[in-house]
Amino acid sequence: MNDTISLKGQCLCGAVKNKLTELKPNIDVCHCRVCRVWGGGPFMSLDAGQKIETSGAQSIAVYDSSDWAERAFCKQCGSHLYYRLKHNNAHHVLVGLFDMDDKLKLENQIFIDEKPNFYNFAEQSIKMTGAEFFAMVAGEDEP
Ligand SMILES: [Zn+2]
Ligand SMILES: [Zn+2]
Repeated sequence: MNDTISLKGQCLCGAVKNKLTELKPNIDVCHCRVCRVWGGGPFMSLDAGQKIETSGAQSIAVYDSSDWAERAFCKQCGSHLYYRLKHNNAHHVLVGLFDMDDKLKLENQIFIDEKPNFYNFAEQSIKMTGAEFFAMVAGEDEP
């Protein structure tokens, strides 16, 4: 199934605008502690790869959150924008920024072993522990 969609979105104040094209409508959720501290809850994103068009670059601040990735947010309003992997420039963009599309669906939940007990998503999805996720990533795109 290669049903792709295009989405437009912006941060709360509108200083940063994003356009995604040829996008798989799959939402990935990360329950890891770093994501939950960053966003106050689970991180829900779309894998935009390198196909992201952004305007308002002067309003984007980047936090170097690990050796392999960084997290971007709007300097004016604080809206979180994306998680970017350094080795392949893949952008995991926060789904909440975008106009909703009926094709969007929850596809993967990672770091399920770090999820707090006080919530659960009822949607059917792939679930991976942190160890399973790292094993999967190690098997694909080597830097
Ligand atoms: Zn903003
Ligand atoms: Zn995470």
